Amino acid sequence: MSTLRADVAIIGAGIGGMCAGALLSRAGRKVLVLEKSPLPGGRYTSVQYKGFTIPTASWMLLYGTSDPVYLTLEEIGAPPIEMRAPGTPVARYRINGRIYDWPPKGALRYLMEKAAGDPEEANRVMGALAQAMAHPPTESISFRDWLLRSTRNEAIHGIFQAQIATWCGMNAHDLPAREFIRALLSFRGRDTFRIPRNGLKDIIDALGAAVRAGGGEILTRTKATGIMVEKGIARGVTALRGSEAITIEARMVVSNIGPKKTVELAGREHFGEAYLRQAAEMRPAVGMDYLFITDRPLLDFPGTLYTTDTIRKEGWSVPTLMWPEHAPAGKHLLHAFAVPENIDSYDPVREYRILLQDLHTVFPDFEGAGGKLLLRRNFCGEWPCTRARQGQDMSHRTPIENLYNVGDGVKPPGWIVGAGAAQSGRIVAQEIIEALG
Ligand SMILES: Cc1cc2nc3c(=O)[nH]c(=O)nc-3n(C[C@H](O)[C@H](O)[C@H](O)COP(=O)(O)OP(=O)(O)OC[C@H]3O[C@@H](n4cnc5c(N)ncnc54)[C@H](O)[C@@H]3O)c2cc1C
Repeated sequence: MSTLRADVAIIGAGIGGMCAGALLSRAGRKVLVLEKSPLPGGRYTSVQYKGFTIPTASWMLLYGTSDPVYLTLEEIGAPPIEMRAPGTPVARYRINGRIYDWPPKGALRYLMEKAAGDPEEANRVMGALAQAMAHPPTESISFRDWLLRSTRNEAIHGIFQAQIATWCGMNAHDLPAREFIRALLSFRGRDTFRIPRNGLKDIIDALGAAVRAGGGEILTRTKATGIMVEKGIARGVTALRGSEAITIEARMVVSNIGPKKTVELAGREHFGEAYLRQAAEMRPAVGMDYLFITDRPLLDFPGTLYTTDTIRKEGWSVPTLMWPEHAPAGKHLLHAFAVPENIDSYDPVREYRILLQDLHTVFPDFEGAGGKLLLRRNFCGEWPCTRARQGQDMSHRTPIENLYNVGDGVKPPGWIVGAGAAQSGRIVAQEIIEALG
């Protein structure tokens, strides 16, 4: 058995762990990142698949130049990464069979007016939203039930359902109203999304380079098997590197594998009842993700088309309009993301059948464009949309001294998806830098 030493051992090279690792390295700390798979990045990188560049899950820096990932790259002084933004419109909405651009200003009101055909109805909802943004609801009520107080118009409900599904991997009837209001606020004053030339692998490469520049390493094919705890203090990590057992002695341990797995690795006896209950009750946000190949682009803009009048309310895009080199010459990708009605129990095959119905409603010429399936994926369980549903995130701190969690099970309030995972990494890096002095 060999023993390695580091200031900080990070379990998992997801975006949360990599942001924390890069910032700590930049601050002069020796960091070892353990990653069980052959590639770093987890659900936040890109790979080659049958001639296409596709994401392992996440596509984009959601908030562009205001994304915590982007800010991290700036802070570590990473060389510039070529990224593209969608331009205008950033989104379109299909409402009652017609397509509307998302205008740069007053978009929600505009779309609701189109949906209801009645400015008064839109006014009522806008008033309620403004009120909720000023004083977020404290009662435990789903966004759908909250919205029903202002409108029963299903087309208006469809607009919000499409956003909630695409952004959060949940439904309006699952998501607490308070959390949706926070998510809406999170987009205020922030940049639109961006995608790097080679997909998110460019980001992970840059963060990895920062770790190595600080004298650290990313140990791939290295699975953490335990977190060493003595007298309530984390002391390091045990791992299997191939078939070799290794020990990493570290002053701080950061886990990027979710609170539940953190508990398993450290041992339940170190955590109080409340912590164990919260970790056990955490449920993942889920979603069905589809990639189709076509001979020509089925949209004429590189943003997202939200469909509010389909069976599931999906987000659709043609990422190859932004980066044609992500497909072989003469081919395009059509991407769709949909959330089942019951996120606790669903049949992926039935969901695919529903998606195909929606696909033909939205793109009647799919076959004419040579459309065929490249890949369909069900993001759930240990490879979910997010490890904690919005509103179920735990603290990044643990009852064990010098042990922290990062990732999308500990997103700070108001932060969603990978941006939230990255933000947790930034917060933890800052706390460790201060603690180590
Ligand atoms: C279809 C889809 C689209 C999405 N689109 C976006 C988007 O556009 N923008 C966005 O910001 N977010 C998006 N997200 C969400 C985003 O992908 C995740 O929130 C984010 O990637 C989670 O990162 P994480 O830090 O929690 O780490 P994870 O990605 O969960 O990484 C954890 C890593 O730990 C490793 N690991 C696990 N166990 C061990 C062990 N015992 N030892 C060592 N290593 C271990 C895993 O292999 C993995 O690499 C999307 C999600 C889905 C499903």
